[in-house]
Amino acid sequence: MRDNTSGLLFIICAPSGTGKSTLIRKMLQEFGNFNFSLSYTTRSPRAGEKQGREYYFVEQEEFLDLVRKDFFAEWAEVHSNYYGTPYEEISRITDQGIDVLFDIDIQGARQLSRNMQNRVLIFVLPPGKQVLEQRIQGRGTDSQEEIQKRLDKAKEELQAAEEFDYCITNQDLEQAYDKLRSIYIAEKSKTYYHKDDLKRLLNNW
Ligand code: ADP
Ligand code: 5GP
Repeated sequence: MRDNTSGLLFIICAPSGTGKSTLIRKMLQEFGNFNFSLSYTTRSPRAGEKQGREYYFVEQEEFLDLVRKDFFAEWAEVHSNYYGTPYEEISRITDQGIDVLFDIDIQGARQLSRNMQNRVLIFVLPPGKQVLEQRIQGRGTDSQEEIQKRLDKAKEELQAAEEFDYCITNQDLEQAYDKLRSIYIAEKSKTYYHKDDLKRLLNNW
């Protein structure tokens, strides 16, 4: 078994519509060693979303049954739906040393990062309220009522940004992405992730 410090939890939070999924897609395209943590949700699939690709879409009854069976490492109610991260997504990191990227809300980020040294918390900021509203509208997947709910929630979420290690404003997509990938590269260069390499180097000296 590998040193359980070798995998990284890369946790990205942002108010809905900020561009988090867009940034995450770019990370997964560029870095082959990344895995995406697939969550369960009671939300209905949006147009174009597929079962087992964006999420495992389940009924509320099934979700709550999984909660009772202690299936989730963390779960939360977000915008009137339930979302949860299965324990198996965490064990991929601790057992196999794989880097995993999490797209979760602030409640989930707080729960997951507790007692985990090998995590990095990133908050993606929208440039402003109007831009955020336009982006959610432009995505064309949410009703006006949903959009209002997400804008109200955004203010609350922004107040928690100071708990995070890094903040990236997503105004220009390429610039924001450049910051995100730089953070990943810098984090992975920390001595903490090279203990095995160092040991191997010294053993073969
Ligand atoms: P989130 O996952 O945070 O809810 P999305 O990635 O779905 O947000 O992005 C919301 C919308 O904003 C999408 O239509 C996306 O193409 C667009 N978008 C993302 N980043 C930018 C950006 N920097 N500039 C303009 N539009 C953007
Ligand atoms: P959406 O419905 O737009 O896909 O996601 C809504 C919110 O739920 C986003 O902030 C997203 O990060 C969060 N979310 C997605 N999966 C999980 C999860 O497994 N746990 C938690 N706590 N939040 C999640």
